[in-house]
Amino acid sequence: MAYDSNNIFAKILRGEIPCKKVYEDDFALAFHDIQPQAPVHVLVIPKGPYVSLDDFSLEAQPAEIGGFFAAVGETARVLGVVEGGYRILANVGRDANQEVAHFHVHIFAGRPLGPMIKKS
Ligand code: 5GP
Repeated sequence: MAYDSNNIFAKILRGEIPCKKVYEDDFALAFHDIQPQAPVHVLVIPKGPYVSLDDFSLEAQPAEIGGFFAAVGETARVLGVVEGGYRILANVGRDANQEVAHFHVHIFAGRPLGPMIKKS
């Protein structure tokens, strides 16, 4: 799938839509999810134009990949959720219900998070 620069997270990166920023560096921007599913629900997105983790892992430079995942860890520290624990999640494609086609990692925290995945 080709990257669409009109997706909502691209607009947030360009400052065209506001966000509640948690952390930012050269590689990533972290901000609160608009519809939180846990007391802490933050999204971390790379600054580059990648549709999904699949695209990111194929096309991004090693420095971007390393910088991005370092930023995910730093975001959790900024949020103060390391001691209590947290979960990260990345939806990729149809079966995972990926809604926004700009790669993002969810950080969930702030309460016991239950089973890793819903039983169908
Ligand atoms: P996905 O299902 O693609 O993994 O998750 C997309 C997430 O983006 C959802 O949790 C949704 O609430 C969040 N989201 C969608 N639009 C916006 C927005 O305009 N601002 C913010 N902060 N989050 C958004």
